[in-house]
Amino acid sequence: MLHPEIEGMSREELRKLQYERLIKTVNRCYENVPFYKAKFKEMGLEPGDIKSLDDLKLLPFTVKQDLRDNYPFGLFAAPREDVVRVHASSGTTGKPTVVGYTQNDINSWADLIARCIAMAGGDKDDVVQVGYGYGLFTGGLGVHYGAERLGATVIPISGGNTSRQLMLMQDFATTILCCTPSYALFLSEEAREEGIDLVNSKLKAGIFGAEPWSENMRKEIENNMGIKALNIYGLSEVMGPGVSMECECQSGMHVMEDYFIPEIIDPETGEQLPYGSKGELVFTTITKEAFPLLRYRTRDISVLREEKCECGRTFVRMDRVMGRTDDMLIIRGVNVFPSQIESVLLENGDTEPHYLLVVDRKDNLDSLEVLVEVSDKMFSDEVRKLEEVEKKLRHEIASVLGISAKIKLVEPKTIPRSEGKATRVIDKRKL
Ligand code: ADP
Ligand code: ZN
Repeated sequence: MLHPEIEGMSREELRKLQYERLIKTVNRCYENVPFYKAKFKEMGLEPGDIKSLDDLKLLPFTVKQDLRDNYPFGLFAAPREDVVRVHASSGTTGKPTVVGYTQNDINSWADLIARCIAMAGGDKDDVVQVGYGYGLFTGGLGVHYGAERLGATVIPISGGNTSRQLMLMQDFATTILCCTPSYALFLSEEAREEGIDLVNSKLKAGIFGAEPWSENMRKEIENNMGIKALNIYGLSEVMGPGVSMECECQSGMHVMEDYFIPEIIDPETGEQLPYGSKGELVFTTITKEAFPLLRYRTRDISVLREEKCECGRTFVRMDRVMGRTDDMLIIRGVNVFPSQIESVLLENGDTEPHYLLVVDRKDNLDSLEVLVEVSDKMFSDEVRKLEEVEKKLRHEIASVLGISAKIKLVEPKTIPRSEGKATRVIDKRKL
């Protein structure tokens, strides 16, 4: 552990620290952010009403629309001249959402990421290849500063440029790779194509996140690269990568509770749910100066677990993100989460973890087509075998989702690979 005195803190001590920091944050928001002051007034709430950690649930929620309404700097709680950096989320529609950091914020973030890299077994002797995109996206620079903070050697290669990634990985003897899991898988396939043996290379661990992935994908990446692959979670609004990170036990991501207070709520009612329940993740930042957020609704669906972890860390763990409250597709009136289809595809074993869902509407009827790659070997097999796999998948998807889908098995490497987050759904109905 990089920060054993904190990561291994008793729950009681931690709650005390969290409460102290929460009060400071609440006051900061109230005094410096007109949006929050107005919300408090509207709710008849004063900072003094927050008398214990349990009063967290009295605080107002913040949602992504609040960020848009206050574009670009309206929610900042520090004067602009104290803000040393901004990031912005990709935002597929309209204006991006903008977040800001003071020098202290950047320092805490770097400490956090250093802690995450240490969780993957990293220290100053490591060579960390940062394959997350650099720029407004928080991935690249976020991980970069943390790796430097740890004292590791950083290769700031950013995303893309696959052959070059592989060349430098060998020449510079990279030990830890950081990128999206879909890109890691792609890199491992390209390596095989180019005859590069990553299993016997210096590479020992991967810190993968920024998009959902599965246990099967983890196994595939670990086998292809001969590494331990760990999940990292975060979102720009709350900080960026490093809000939570897996330890060597690979059984959920420890939420960095000295910086963020997590909650699970019922997305319909907003009611706080106990540990162990599935619901929407909500975070309150408790150290941030430039962009503090009270009870930010992530729309990510997960579960928080308080059972003690074998690694000795006392921070609660969150399960892999199981979907979002808003990526839900409604196909012929049925709620469909792409992750449900993903698990069917990954569990069946005959196909590769590369797929694309195409939703369309003709004559007022919705259709769902699932394109999925089969392995090289499989594709050269007889047609009958392929037909069997198609039939099996169609059947399984129908039984899980309750609607029929057209399955299209495609040749290996025909579904476009992404260098950042993978595109899994094309919904033509919106066009
Ligand atoms: P944007 O994608 O809008 O530019 P972010 O990069 O902040 O903004 O994206 C954050 C979102 O990415 C999270 O809310 C979550 O849905 C997803 N995400 C990040 N890390 C993970 C992870 N390890 N597993 C699953 N989803 C993740
Ligand atoms: Zn642990």
